[in-house]
Amino acid sequence: MIHCIFCKIASGAIPCTKVWENKKYLAFLDINPITPGHTLLIPKKHHDYIFDMNDEEYNELMGIAKKLSVKIKKSMNSKKIGMMVEGFLVHHTHIHLIPLQKAGDLNTENAKKESPERLTVIAEKIKAGEI
Ligand code: AMP
Ligand code: ZN
Repeated sequence: MIHCIFCKIASGAIPCTKVWENKKYLAFLDINPITPGHTLLIPKKHHDYIFDMNDEEYNELMGIAKKLSVKIKKSMNSKKIGMMVEGFLVHHTHIHLIPLQKAGDLNTENAKKESPERLTVIAEKIKAGEI
C-alpha cells in the first residue's frame, strides 16, 4: 500500500524504534505512548481490519503478541500488559501492547508524544529480553 505509513515502516522506508521482528511481523514503540513501553505489533504484509486476516496469520500474530507481552511486562516492571486494537488512525493491522500498573491505565487520553531518545532507551531495555 503506497500511502500506508506502517507499510513504509515495515519496508524500512521510514524509521521506527524497533523492539522485535521476524520475516513476517514487526514490533516497534508507539511514538505517542499511553504508558512507557507501549508497543505496536504489525504484520509486515498490509491488512486493514484484523479480523479479516486469515486464521493462520491471525493466530501467528496473536501468538507473537503473547510472547512479546512476557518480554515487555518483565522489562517495564508492569503488573499486566493490556491489549487494544482500534485502527481508525492507521489502517494497517496493529495490536497495541500497553504496560499497565493499575485499572484505568488503558486510556487513550493519556497518550503523549515521547522523545526519540527516550524511546530508544526503552526499546533497548525490551530488546534485552528473549522472546
Ligand atoms: P489507531 O489506528 O487508532 O490504533 O492509532 C494508531 C497508533 O499508531 C497511534 O497510537 C499512533 O501514536 C501510532 N503511530 C502513528 N504513526 C506512528 C509512527 N510513525 N511510529 C510509531 N507509532 C505511530
Ligand atoms: Zn500498510
